[in-house]
Amino acid sequence: MKYIAQCECGQLKLEIDSEPVLELRCDCRDCQDALRADYATIALFKMNEAVVTGKFAEKIYLAESGNETCRQYCDHCSTMMFDRSEGLPHILGVMSDQLQHPFESSPSCHAYVRDKKPGVGIPAGMKHHEAGLS
Ligand SMILES: [Zn+2]
Ligand SMILES: [Zn+2]
Repeated sequence: MKYIAQCECGQLKLEIDSEPVLELRCDCRDCQDALRADYATIALFKMNEAVVTGKFAEKIYLAESGNETCRQYCDHCSTMMFDRSEGLPHILGVMSDQLQHPFESSPSCHAYVRDKKPGVGIPAGMKHHEAGLS
């Protein structure tokens, strides 16, 4: 196995064998709400290569596209772990903060920049999208 992600208490765990398809920083309001943070850094992995163990609870959001998106967190310590979307059924988003060494976070683009908090800067030259990626 290549990478592991786990919550603060260690009960909810992900094991994955591949590199992320993409890593991005998401400034959307749902991520802000779910993480109680200015933005989320999320690594997108192929779902069929992900093995999740442990119990999670989830919070469902309705995206503008009409698709449901859901944020999954540990049902014990409440650490936010995963992001899944009906629009991307084969992709599992993993909160980069929870990925353990040797994973190195280096988001290549920013999404939902129109919802960005005023104080949050975007590094020069980084690709960004007003809304979603497509
Ligand atoms: Zn936990
Ligand atoms: Zn988001």
